[in-house]
Amino acid sequence: MNFKDYIRVIPDFPQPGIRFKDITTLLKDGPAYRAAIDSLKEMVKEKEIDLIAGPEARGFVVGAPLAIALGVGFVPIRKSGKLPGNTVEAAYDLEYGKDRLAIHSDSIQPGQKILIADDLLATGGTIATSIDLITKLGGEIVGAAFLIELSYLSGRDKLSGLDVVSLVTY
Ligand code: 5GP
Repeated sequence: MNFKDYIRVIPDFPQPGIRFKDITTLLKDGPAYRAAIDSLKEMVKEKEIDLIAGPEARGFVVGAPLAIALGVGFVPIRKSGKLPGNTVEAAYDLEYGKDRLAIHSDSIQPGQKILIADDLLATGGTIATSIDLITKLGGEIVGAAFLIELSYLSGRDKLSGLDVVSLVTY
């Protein structure tokens, strides 16, 4: 399946000059959504994984179904102030902006093997910050899985040494 056929590119969103990759057109197509998750599962199934962690919000729509497909749990990484329990937090840069991410302090036990999932790898800032949070809790990152990779932003370089898989590249 050519997943690019299901991803809509919207110019000048959320700012002039950004060509936003809109995955809602993929998500609303049941067979395509399932095929995307199945393909990511095939790419990571040889790994030993205890938990998948995904940043809000689009990391949830990739990470949670992938966790179910693999039969492992899911840990949400959220914007600061959203999680009800004790958290650890870190600041991060986006392709277009700044924010803080948080994770529940008790969501990962030291030594657990964590796969990170998100919809899209751009500069790598979100995933680098997610790695930071997981590492603070003693989790061991075994890789990162994305629907989309923007290779022209070189996010992979920021994640050197990490096993990164993605379904489509722009
Ligand atoms: P990064 O931190 O790698 O620069 O940016 C990746 C994060 O920003 C992801 O969490 C992703 O959801 C969001 N993002 C940035 N650009 C796009 C885009 O063009 N399309 C989508 N769907 N998400 C984007």
